[in-house]
Amino acid sequence: WMVETVLRDLAASEPGWSLTALRYFNPVGAHPSGSMGEDPRGIPNNLMPFIAQVAVGRRPALQVFGNDYPTPDGTGLRDYIHVMDLAEGHLLACQKGHGRTGFHTYNLGRGKPLSVLEMLRAFEAACGRALPHVIEPRRAGDLAAYWADPSKALTELGWQARLDVDAMCDYTWRWQSNNPEGYQP
Ligand code: UDP
Repeated sequence: WMVETVLRDLAASEPGWSLTALRYFNPVGAHPSGSMGEDPRGIPNNLMPFIAQVAVGRRPALQVFGNDYPTPDGTGLRDYIHVMDLAEGHLLACQKGHGRTGFHTYNLGRGKPLSVLEMLRAFEAACGRALPHVIEPRRAGDLAAYWADPSKALTELGWQARLDVDAMCDYTWRWQSNNPEGYQP
């Protein structure tokens, strides 16, 4: 929000600039080739790489941070978006930006949140086996639910996410199972 405020001020004071801010929601997934994916250092903070490392046997169980949120299954809801969709959003935003000035913002999300347990179930389907998980207390600072309204990106950029949760999990599993230890030197 702070960066957007700075960019908005810049656009107001320097009218020749063309500025676009893309608001990512929860990027997951990997390249379809299975050769490029997420490889966090140390213990993953984010849900998807953690599940992937459980699936490949690098971690014993997923810790589910809270099942007492006011959501249908009690776990947190997030707007997961496939990185390939996100990449396409960047291309369209760059093309649009060439023809205009001013400051513009777009939400890049699917607009449809998924729970932690829904992600886990989808990943189990992708990797073909049940994955161990334990319910833990809520993580400090987490909100119960948030998701994008991506309608402006559709109207102005002609962009919308095409890949669903099954593709997110399939592509992540392809990457992780091909590269159990991530990128190797
Ligand atoms: N989460 C979880 N276990 C983990 C990592 C994340 O239960 O090991 C939950 C987290 O509480 C949130 C959701 O998964 O409800 C997405 O978390 P992530 O850190 O990936 O994204 P963020 O919270 O930054 O949106």
